[in-house]
Amino acid sequence: MRILVTGGAGFIGSNLIHRLLADGHVVVCMDNLSTGRLNNIKAFLDSRDFEFVEGDVRTPYAFEVDQVYNLACPASPPRYQADPIGTTMTSVLGTKHALELGQATGVRVLQASTSEVYGDPEVHPQSEEYVGAVNPVGQRACYDEGKRVAESLCFDFHRQFGTDVRVARIFNTYGPMMDPDDGRVISNMVVAALQGLKLPVYGSGEQTRSFCFVDDLVDGLIAIMNQTVEVGPYNVGNPEERSIAEVGRIVAEVVGTTVSLEFTALPVDDPKRRRPDISRLTEATGWKPSRTFQEGLARTVDYFRRELAREA
Ligand code: NAD
Ligand code: UDP
Repeated sequence: MRILVTGGAGFIGSNLIHRLLADGHVVVCMDNLSTGRLNNIKAFLDSRDFEFVEGDVRTPYAFEVDQVYNLACPASPPRYQADPIGTTMTSVLGTKHALELGQATGVRVLQASTSEVYGDPEVHPQSEEYVGAVNPVGQRACYDEGKRVAESLCFDFHRQFGTDVRVARIFNTYGPMMDPDDGRVISNMVVAALQGLKLPVYGSGEQTRSFCFVDDLVDGLIAIMNQTVEVGPYNVGNPEERSIAEVGRIVAEVVGTTVSLEFTALPVDDPKRRRPDISRLTEATGWKPSRTFQEGLARTVDYFRRELAREA
């Protein structure tokens, strides 16, 4: 197949493209390189099966393809809050344009949504039935509400025009190809540990997240795209929940340094607990994550070690 991946120069997008090319597909990657990096797709640029198009999803586009993965959107809190209006517009207009392509050509569009649609959840773990608790005027709203509108567009295109859509609610993901300066907890902690610095913990570190290794996540996205019959939404992530302080201790252990945490203020509206209920996707496709946190972290630490050496 010929497959469009918007946001393909980013962390998840470049891992997805790696897999799609390995599976024998032809890939078109469209990205404005705002938070993604050419370095993430450098290995594919010489391939005849890969095409990079520098472009912005906020402008309508057209490609002859068989499937669309719509991933374009900044994803780390500091990055999406740096240009909040731009983030909302990327989410809303970018999704509208992907859906218009799907509507015009009949091809399936997978929308990369997020666990952030659940906001700071009052229900735990989060299943797809839970409608969420999002502050619509807070600093995270540009991302959370942008992604909620994007989901609503997906369902309305499907109901109004029969557009072939899948909605994937991605939970915290980590792994190779993350930008060391991205600002998310795993990249910040691994980079700090490798540099011999204290590991940054926001707040008390008692808040929890559930981290999925990117290879498992990519398997999940491909399963949602190809093995499901409903629009969804489908939670996709790893249900193993950990406190952020515990993550710091495990990162230090995997890097091989002594644990030294530095506590600073908790950002506004930071969700207190997060864990996906993945039973819907598992029942639909058999997918579940298989890589352990230690295994995924070891591969991530190796990657950041190489990345820091490259940048030095
Ligand atoms: P990322 O920032 O590494 O990648 C996003 C990519 O989109 C970048 O390459 C960026 O340059 C590109 N992009 C941003 N705005 C664009 C625009 N207007 N036009 C064209 N390209 C644009 O982030 P990621 O972690 O790879 O996230 C990919 C997708 O998955 C995002 O939609 C994100 O919301 C979603 N997601 C990620 C996570 C996670 O833990 N990584 C969790 C939930 C959802
Ligand atoms: N966090 C932290 N140190 C960091 C970056 C983040 O303690 O250097 C915390 C953050 O406050 C949140 C959790 O780790 O509670 C996950 O943050 P991240 O930005 O990775 O993802 P999100 O908040 O979007 O889930």
